[in-house]
Amino acid sequence: MNSTAVRARTEAPVIEVFASIQGEGAYVGEPQTFLRLRGCPLRCNWCDTPGSWELGDGEMHARIDAVDAVRRESAWATPFKALCWVAQVESGPPRTLSITGGEPLMWPEFILGLRSLSGTRRVHLETAGAHPRALARVLGAVDHVSLDLKLPRDLDQPVPLEGTDFEASPRDEREWAAARAACLELVRGRDACAKLIVSGEHSARVFDPLVEDLARRAPNVPLYIQPVTPRGRSRAPSAELLNEIVERARELALVVRVIPQVHRSLGVQ
Ligand code: SF4
Repeated sequence: MNSTAVRARTEAPVIEVFASIQGEGAYVGEPQTFLRLRGCPLRCNWCDTPGSWELGDGEMHARIDAVDAVRRESAWATPFKALCWVAQVESGPPRTLSITGGEPLMWPEFILGLRSLSGTRRVHLETAGAHPRALARVLGAVDHVSLDLKLPRDLDQPVPLEGTDFEASPRDEREWAAARAACLELVRGRDACAKLIVSGEHSARVFDPLVEDLARRAPNVPLYIQPVTPRGRSRAPSAELLNEIVERARELALVVRVIPQVHRSLGVQ
């Protein structure tokens, strides 16, 4: 086992810590503090944080957007060190802490450590919904889960992340369906939302299995449809496409909202 694997048990590589406005999902508009972790084995075509995928060979750095000055620190952090950075970027009372990535479920022990040191601060998790074992491990440690409903055809093959052998990533439609089902069963009845990113390449019917899975397995969890921010091979969906998916969700008695990435229109991180 190399040094990365050893450290991965208790520490996580941080990309950035900053205070901003939540731009997606059920808590859109809430002032939150964001802790972005490095490392993601998935390869979404429309990923807006591809710089978070790899751990890299050399020394990595975290950007700390502290109130007094922006600075860089060595990226690997214990939960205690990460929470010190969180406090340094906040100019007022503690905010909800949003753990994002990358894929934060690469670092379940780190998330458990954060919870144990966070006191009454709310802790939210943003995840791709591909790793149900890791999600089950941390579920009791977070107050809200924002769970992506991934369309397998929107992803290239996963690339295993060195040192994070906790759980393999789904590789095909069947494995994605199993991972999605397990994750939805886990968040059923909890404070959670499902996020469906819709790009213009597909017909509405392509999204049916995802919406139907949500209605079958976690009908209380609201669906947030997020039109993709065009990049790479992805283009924005039409109003007609969005409306068709909305109506399918409504037929299934889901609570559904359509919200673009609000932080982009606000011009914040
Ligand atoms: S799961 Fe998130 S970080 Fe990973 S490729 Fe997809 S959008 Fe990017």
